Amino acid sequence: MTTVSARSPSTARSGTRTIPPARQVGDRAEGQEAAEARATSLADQLAAADKEAKRLARRARNGVCPCCHRSFANVKKHMDNRHPTYQS
Ligand SMILES: [Zn+2]
Repeated sequence: MTTVSARSPSTARSGTRTIPPARQVGDRAEGQEAAEARATSLADQLAAADKEAKRLARRARNGVCPCCHRSFANVKKHMDNRHPTYQS
């Protein structure tokens, strides 16, 4: 005969978790429009950042100094000598 209780008092959760309400957007149409505008803006920013990263990578590959925009065979040596305080 087994007398195992289904309830275990030790698993009771303590503390109060605040669960945000699922529905916070009142006007659905306006919220969606704003969200789409924000998504478009973020996509534009992402594209611009991606373009900038590629541009900088290309410049670095060609040995262009990020400070004075001149190209050097040894950019590290140039950075150490001419721009020792430059931080990325
Ligand atoms: Zn330089």
